[in-house]
Amino acid sequence: MKLRLKAGREKSLLRRHPWIYSGAIDKVHGSPSSGDTVEVQASDGRFLAWAAWSPQSQIRARVWSFEEAEVPGPALLRGRIEQALALRRGLALQGVTNAMRLVHGEADRLPGLIVDRYGDTLVAQVLSAGIERWRDVLADSLIEQTGCARIYERSDAEVRELEGLPARTGVMRGDAPAVPLEIVEHGLGYEVDVLGGQKTGFYLDQRDNRRRIGELAAGCEVLNCFCYTGGFSFAALAGGALSVVSVDSSGPALGLARRNAHASGFDMPPTEWIEGDVFRYLRDARSQGRSFDLIVLDPPKFAPTAKHAPAAARAYKDINLNALKLLRAGGLLATFSCSGGVSAELFQKIVAGAAADAGASTTILGRFQAALDHPVLLEFPEGEYLKGLLLRRN
Ligand code: SAH
Repeated sequence: MKLRLKAGREKSLLRRHPWIYSGAIDKVHGSPSSGDTVEVQASDGRFLAWAAWSPQSQIRARVWSFEEAEVPGPALLRGRIEQALALRRGLALQGVTNAMRLVHGEADRLPGLIVDRYGDTLVAQVLSAGIERWRDVLADSLIEQTGCARIYERSDAEVRELEGLPARTGVMRGDAPAVPLEIVEHGLGYEVDVLGGQKTGFYLDQRDNRRRIGELAAGCEVLNCFCYTGGFSFAALAGGALSVVSVDSSGPALGLARRNAHASGFDMPPTEWIEGDVFRYLRDARSQGRSFDLIVLDPPKFAPTAKHAPAAARAYKDINLNALKLLRAGGLLATFSCSGGVSAELFQKIVAGAAADAGASTTILGRFQAALDHPVLLEFPEGEYLKGLLLRRN
């Protein structure tokens, strides 16, 4: 089965960008079903790529390979898993953590597959029709090549709907994972709920940024907004924070955070866990005259795609403005965006606007990105979703 592109629409594929939008397609030869392999041709019939057909999605096909000889099948997929694992082995994460992202979708040339490792448990998200088609081959290959005991599937992300795939969760290979699981990251233990937690259970992409916050937190009164299960809170406490206030709207996430606090003995310095809306908390804290030395803002993705960027910009501006108002002179703000639809450049502009409105002179001390096990393909800049700024209020 073949896709013929419209004239001129081969350009992004020649630069090895892996997505083919519906609007770029001129003709479809044959009647591919969801997940079928299609040959993608330029308007003059030249071979461009092998791709997986996603009939329901605006991204109508995702590239498996740009090499004509690399026909998609079990051997190619096993090879991709092997390459993904080799990349992680080169990152020297063994002494740092037993939890890491093993497969990161497009960046590992497996568009729509996410696999996170927590000890000997793998948690997979199958997010595209092409991955769905090869699910069993991929699962067998993951078990064979990692030696892990089990795979739990968390294909309950909203993006599956865009692919016309129903949500699915459950054991994929092996037995059911323990709840919660214990992991270690930069010397700190965390409990993770891979069954009920957000995404696959833990925000592994923030690993190195949590450590950075820990290094900066000594002697600080800290506010951790959108704390989830308390990752940044524990890093700050371990780093010698005087107190930490943590806010999140998710009751179950805070429940696990409190358990984590208990297990790590970190309920010694004052810690407050507040279930509520951060937008509101920041306003209330100001009216109560509270202030902090270190504030973390790590909100959910307000702009999944570029079309949500204007509304997202207002939300980012609001929280950054109100957080800066709570920051003491000399204090630090670590502010993040994990929105694919907001570039690092736009994010910096939004934060600059917030600082101007807050009447705060601020200095950029550093920038944040996702940890190295969440790589980005240069030809696929959409993959660079997590960005952040470390600011000092002067
Ligand atoms: N920093 C965390 C990850 C944050 S994910 C870590 O390192 O683990 C974003 C979090 O924001 C989620 O836990 C979600 O429950 C929470 N959230 C979303 N909207 C919110 C709101 N309006 N107010 C408070 N929390 C919110």
